[in-house]
Parts: sequence; C-alpha cells; structure tokens
Amino acid sequence: MNMNESQKGQTAGAVAENPIESLPAAAVYAELKTAASGLTQVEAEKRLEYYGKNSIQKRKSKPLIIKFLANFTHLMAILLWIGGVVGFIAQLPQLGVAIWLVNIINGLFSFWQEYQAEKAVEALGELLPVYAHVLRDGGEARILAEDLVPGDVIILAEGDRISADGRLVEADDFRADQSILTGESHPAHKTKDVGNRTDLGRAEQPNLIFAGTNAASGSGKAVVFATGMNTEFGKIADLTQSMGEVQSPLQKELGRVTRLVSVMAMSIGAFFFVMAILVANVNIAESFIFAMGMIVAFIPEGLLPTVTLSLAMGVQRMAQRNALIKRLSAVETLGCTTVICTDKTGTLTQNEMTVSDLWMVKQQVRVTGVGYAPEGEMLRENLPISLAENQDLRQLLLAASLCNNSRLLPPGPETSHWSILGDPTEAALVVAAQKGKLDLAEEAQHSPRLRELPFESYRKRMSTIHQVSAEISDGKQLAYIKGSPKEVLDLCTKFYQDGQGLPLDEVTREKVMTANDEFARKGLRVLAVAMRLLTKDLNLPARLSEYTSDLIEQDLTFLGLTVMADPPREEVQAAVGKCNQAGIKIIMITGDYGLTAESIARRIGIIYEDQPRIITGAELDELNDDALKQALAGEIIFARAAPEQKLRVVTALQEMGNVVAVTGDGVNDAPALKKADIGVAMGISGTDVAKEAADVILTDDNFASIVNAVEEGRGVYNNIRKFATYILNSNVPEAVPFIIFLFSRGTIPLPLTIMQILAVDLGTDMLPAIALGSELPEEGIMKRPPRRQKEHLLNRYLLIRAFLWYGLIESSIAMSAFFFLYWQNGWPGVPMENAGVIYQMATTMTLAGIVATQIGTVFNCRTERASLFKVGFFKNRLVIIGIAFELAILCILIYTPFLHTLFNTAPIGLIEWAYLFMWIPIVILLDESRKALLRSWEQRSASRKNKIRKGVSQ
Ligand code: ATP
Repeated sequence: MNMNESQKGQTAGAVAENPIESLPAAAVYAELKTAASGLTQVEAEKRLEYYGKNSIQKRKSKPLIIKFLANFTHLMAILLWIGGVVGFIAQLPQLGVAIWLVNIINGLFSFWQEYQAEKAVEALGELLPVYAHVLRDGGEARILAEDLVPGDVIILAEGDRISADGRLVEADDFRADQSILTGESHPAHKTKDVGNRTDLGRAEQPNLIFAGTNAASGSGKAVVFATGMNTEFGKIADLTQSMGEVQSPLQKELGRVTRLVSVMAMSIGAFFFVMAILVANVNIAESFIFAMGMIVAFIPEGLLPTVTLSLAMGVQRMAQRNALIKRLSAVETLGCTTVICTDKTGTLTQNEMTVSDLWMVKQQVRVTGVGYAPEGEMLRENLPISLAENQDLRQLLLAASLCNNSRLLPPGPETSHWSILGDPTEAALVVAAQKGKLDLAEEAQHSPRLRELPFESYRKRMSTIHQVSAEISDGKQLAYIKGSPKEVLDLCTKFYQDGQGLPLDEVTREKVMTANDEFARKGLRVLAVAMRLLTKDLNLPARLSEYTSDLIEQDLTFLGLTVMADPPREEVQAAVGKCNQAGIKIIMITGDYGLTAESIARRIGIIYEDQPRIITGAELDELNDDALKQALAGEIIFARAAPEQKLRVVTALQEMGNVVAVTGDGVNDAPALKKADIGVAMGISGTDVAKEAADVILTDDNFASIVNAVEEGRGVYNNIRKFATYILNSNVPEAVPFIIFLFSRGTIPLPLTIMQILAVDLGTDMLPAIALGSELPEEGIMKRPPRRQKEHLLNRYLLIRAFLWYGLIESSIAMSAFFFLYWQNGWPGVPMENAGVIYQMATTMTLAGIVATQIGTVFNCRTERASLFKVGFFKNRLVIIGIAFELAILCILIYTPFLHTLFNTAPIGLIEWAYLFMWIPIVILLDESRKALLRSWEQRSASRKNKIRKGVSQ
C-alpha cells in the first residue's frame, strides 16, 4: 500500500477517534482496535505495512557536494590556489599547474578519508539497535523498536527507552523522564487513570507516555497510539536532532597544529624568498620558486584527515573486540584512562548464577547441578530430601520463586541449552525451585500476584503481594520479600521454623549473619528471603496501588538464605593483570556484600593487601571529600553501594587528576556515566538509559573488553604519532637542498626541484604514511603508564626525533647521493656538454635518496621502542604495499621520458641504485641502536625507581 506522508499522518491520528487520554484504561484496547493480549503477528505486519517503520526520518546532513567542496575552500587550500595564480603571473605555468594539482590531489584525498570515517561511524549506529518488549500472539516478545505499530501493547520496565507514544493501561509506581520533551529534569509520575485537569499540556497528561523519553522507575504496560513521525518526538525531531559529531580534542589540536605549521611554512617561504634575492642573487622568479618549495615542503598535507581515519579505524577494530564507541574522541580518551571503576556482577563475574546452598536456621541444604538446566538434587547431610517432608524448605523456595520476574526457557530451535529471560539472580532461584520439583505454574495460579514493589538498588530488595486463601491470612494477602541479607534481616522480627513464625532473638540474628559471612568469604552471593502475612488488623490502605515499601516491608518473618555461585569470567584475571602492568587502577563499586566483593577481587588480582579498605555505601555517605580522596589513593572496594554513589567517587577521582572510566547498567548509573571521562554501558544487561549516557557500549558486558579497548585506544594514538613523525621528517631533506643552494650562493646547483618535493609529499610518501595508521598495538604498550591527557601529540620528543634524528639522517644521505653522482662523473670538472643530463641525474639521486631513506624510516616508525627484528619486518602488509607503490612511482618518474623535463629527472645506472639501496639497512640499523639504547635506559630507570620504592616501603 502506498500512501503519502500526510495521508499516513491522518490515518494514524484517526486510529483513536476520541482523545485517548480521556478514556478509561479498559476502553483503550477497543479504541485502538487491539486487545489486552496484544496484536497478532499477522495484524502487526499488516499495520507495519500501513503505517511504515517506527523511525524518525533523519534530517538530511550536508549535501555531499558541499562536503566535497569544503576540502578545496579552507584556508590552506585558498593559499595554494593563490600560489598557483602567482605561478602563472610569474610566467611559470608548470609551477602554477603543479601547485593546483597538489591542491586537487590533497582535497580529493581528504574527502575520501572523511567519507570513509563517516561511513565507519554510521555503520556503528546500525550495530546499536533499540528493542521493545511487546505482547504479540498473546505472549511476551522482544522486537526491534522500529517494528512497533499502533495497537501494540508494550511492557515497560525501569530504564527502558520508550519508543512510541502510548496510553498507559497498567502502571506500578511508574515515572517517566520526559526532559527531552518538557525540559523538566524531574521524572513525571504516570498512572493509568484518567486525570480530571483540563489545563495540562499533552506531555503533562499523566496517562500518556512518549517516544524518545525513558522509563525512570517502576513498571507498566501501554498501548501504542502513534509511531514514527506521528509521535510528539517525531513532530519536533527536526529541532532536536543533534548537530553531528563534535571534533575530538585530538582533531582540534591537529587542526591548530596544521594551521600553525602552515603559517610557519609561509613565513619560512617568505624568508627564503628574501634571502634568495639578497644572499644568492637569484632573480625574483626563481626566488619565488624557492619560496613555494619551502612552503610546499613544510605544509603537513593530509595530517588531519588521516587522524580522523585512524580514529575511525580504531573504532572499527574496537567494535570487533566487543566495544562499540559512540564518539570518535572516546578512542583517544580511552588511551589515557588511569582508573577503571567497575561493577562486579556480570562485568567481572559470569552472571550465570547457580544456587549452591539454601540455608535455614535449623538446616542447610546443598543443591547440585550447574547452569540454568533444572537438573539437580536437594541434599541434606548428603541425603536427598523432598519438599513434601520439609515445609521450611518448601516455603523458602516458594517465596524465592514467586517474588521473581524471570522465566526459564527450555532448549529450542534458537538455543541448544536452557536459557533465561530476565535477571540471572532471579532465574537461579527459579532453577532451584524446579530442582526441588515445585510446580511453579500451579503455585502462581494458587497465589496470584496482585502487586509488585519493584527492586530498587538503594533498597536492595523487592517484594510481591499475593492473594491467598482466608486460611492463610484473614486479609487474604501475603507479601514475599527478597533482597540483600543484612537489609532484609534488619526488617525481620520472626523466623520461620517447622511451619511457624518464632521470635527472632539476637542469638539467631547473629547466627544468620555468621552464616552469611562464611558464604560471602568464599565469594558466594547471598540473598535473604522473608514473608509477611498482611492481616486485617494492619489496616493497610484499601487500594493496592497505595501500598508502599515502607508499609509492607516491616515486621517480616525470615525464611532463609539462598546462596549462589557466580564465578569470575575466565578472561578477567588476565585483563586485570594487564591493567596492573599498564598503571591503570581498578576500583570495584558493587551493590553486593563486602566480603563477597573482597573474595572475588582477591581471586582476580584487584586486591593484594591483607586488609584492603572496604567502604560501604552508608560509610561513604559519612566520609568527607578529603577522607574519600585519601582512601582512594590505596586499595579500596566500595560494597553495598548504590549506583548514585558512583558519581561521587568518579568526581573525587577526577579531582585527583585521573582519567576515569566507569561501568554501569541502570538508570541511576547515568549521572556517573555522563560525568566520567569514559562511560561504559553494558550492552546485554544495560538499560537503554545507561546506553544513551555512555561513550562506550560493551556488547559482551565483559570487563576484559574495556581493557582491550584501552589497548586499542593507546595503539591508535601511537599510530597517529608514528604517522606524524613519518610525514614531518621528510620536510628536512626537502628543505636542506634549498639551504645548501642558497648558502653556496649558487655554486652548488639546486639539488632538489619543487616538482620533486611534490612528487615525494603527494606521491611516494602517501601510502606508506597511511599504512602506519593501521599498525597493530605495539607489544609492551600495556606495560607503560598511561599518557597524560594534556600531553601534546607533537611533543618535544616527537619533533626532535622527526626533525633532528630521522630528518638529519635522511638529509645527509640524500645530499650524499647528489654529490656521489657528481663525484662519479668527475666533480668538479664535469664535462660541459653533459652538464644538463648530469644535473638531472644528480637531482634524481637526491629524490631517490629521500625515497630510499623514507623506506628505511617507514620501517623505523612502525615501532617507538620495540625492535623490528622482534616485531617482524613484514607483519604490516600495508607498509609493504606502500613501499612497492612508492618504488613504482619513483621508477615512473625516472624512466618515463616525457616526465623528465617536468620533474627534472633522468635514468640512473645500477651503481647508483646500489648506492641508494645500501642506505636502507643502515638507516634501519641506526634506529635499531637508538631503540636498544632507549629500552635499556628505560629498564634501568624503572629498576632504579623500583629500588627507591622498595627502600621507602621498608
Ligand atoms: P554490581 O553492583 O556489582 O552489579 P549487584 O548485582 O550485587 O552487583 P545491585 O544490582 O545494585 O548490585 O544489587 C544490590 C544488592 O541487591 C545485591 O547484592 C543483592 O543482595 C540484592 N539484589 C540484587 N538483585 C536482586 C533481586 N532481583 N531481587 C532482590 N534483591 C536483589
């Protein structure tokens, strides 16, 4: 069916004939031609075809032609255009054409790189699909948000992104963060009820939710009434779409550097122009050629676009290693990360929980089997027991599996093993209940759930209210509570034994906590389970919706502890080891119990000290900023912490001068994720809100992937330095011939022409330089401390190495090649009749000398410290291709007759080639010696520092 946009808009609006917010919840289904069980898949597909995808049309970015032209109209390009015109005016059309050609090649090249980088970033966007939970064909399904249609019933949980406009039909303490629509940062309370105020704007309607906003807390169900461009967000999307990628600090710095160097090049050009006229008595036209030569030699063409491309390539490589980067600039920040604050559950551990023990005051039951397959036994003192004979165990498992939102999925066409929907902690409890042969479907029918007081990380527990027979409670209601042991136990006044509630005295309380600590010390995760009969005499509110956690979660009866194993991920220990070597500190901030956290931290190598400082969330609240900073200097774990508290830790670390990466998955993690230098959200378990706030999303939720990303980040930065060193060093051998000509007052003929400089800068040098951008991270890159964020890319060390070391070596060799040719031909008595050809051969030698030494140098630039003999000369295939390309261009310049006049070249003989090639290994060996010296110096200074440190600690 084909409809134009306005027709579709009208149709979507017409689905609901009455203002949807004024109808009672029960009437909404009929109005939107759907049912409480959702649409059928067939109907949904029909509607999808009718209404189109639920997506916001992207505002068109700048037309390609404008982006293309921008590469020819920036300051440097304009200067080069003018330079060309001056060339023509000075009656040097060759030069004019050559300069313009430079400009054109440079512009095309920049455009191509920009385009590639943009494509790489766009491709990433597609790796981050947004999903929605809906009811389809009567069951819950997870579909792509873009496939939502009007009439779909969506299920909302805390942290979900709301992907379409909907009318709430169920809501449990539901709040929506609508700041994107209303600017109001405080989440708005939403209900399913019809409001009676007429003065409210549409976004303020309490029973409507809107695309582009987020579920801040609670849970709910809504019927979609508008999708795509028909949503409120769609209507204003044009205004809110972001203005595109901002430049990263590195890109900004390079923009500055390029401009600065261009101005410097101009000044040097002007200086040489004047000097050529005054010192070497060269005529104005030729002086102008010198000036242009110097300018062209020094302008670092291609620096900025290559950096952008290197960053984009880094982003692609990181994506392959399970870290999706949302901003290019995050790549470089990752490289200077000094502290990683990480969650425990799921990030450091596998988050595939298995209940190993069930502890009750009078007995302890061991549960066998691993993973989510409900195959295992319940053993007491090594003998199997059945729930039928063990009322206490039955009650514990019943409460733990009914106060639960997870579902267990048997092996099917999609997975060959048992899997889960929902929270792994909860799923483990369902598995345990099934091992005990509890029929959960029947139990749920028997005691249907009336209400949930959802899990909140600051409460560290959740409750569900169930309907029960009058026999059990005269109020016909019962609450099940599960959560962190200490917090739940504090709310208990009784404990359950032999089918009845007994008073919980101090000794029993102590006994529970001792058992809890014993399990925790082994790194096990413990939850306490309790219940409460909601009897009439409690005078609870008549309406279930008015139940609050304060009212329900008190005077509880303790049922027992559930103990689960959540082993560390296999790769984590090695990743932590890498961080230790790389000078990156790891701080665990977990909601779990201190002893469990400490045990896991010790097992994976985060903690070594005997008595690490463990600060609980409550203690953190008491600590002032100075004390916190002092504590952060040593080994530390934050346990029982709420996500909101991460923000304070991150801020303190930043104030101490750290570059901080922090992980998070929930809504409450968002402020810390935003504040941190690198916010890392979990791709699997993370909420949409966390993903939105983060800079990096881990597709496997794995700590090791953060460390891989840091390594890549360091690698990308180093590659950019390698590239910059390489293209800067050829400036020196390009400039020295002009200086020699000038200061010999013309006695020595000009050893290198401008066209030859251009041939190097825009011909032979291009590919090898780019190839350096794809170098793999150097070995030992994670054995050095992080780079300081303020450190400049072109620091003193890099400039000295480029100009004074490589630059001078190359200049000497290139000039020696020039003189070698004259010397071969009887310098100083060169026969007059051959003077022209010999001069052409000599400049060819200078050109080929630069190319030969650049071949050696591109190898040298591949590593900063490591020996090429160890790394392998042919590991980077692009470099080899680049060199082949470089030599091919050189041969074309030397052996194509019609280029001889333009490039002042002439064929050279075998001896000359031998002379040139001889230098390549020498250049490499010279630099190998420098690297060896540097390595041994660094080793010595490291061991000196170690000695000093040891001396201090003794
Ligand atoms: P981390 O912060 O390292 O991811 P965590 O899962 O322990 O670990 P939270 O999700 O903040 O952190 O949970 C805090 C505590 O709340 C847990 O240690 C546990 O005791 C309790 N808890 C976690 N999930 C549930 C749940 N579904 N129902 C009840 N209590 C829970």
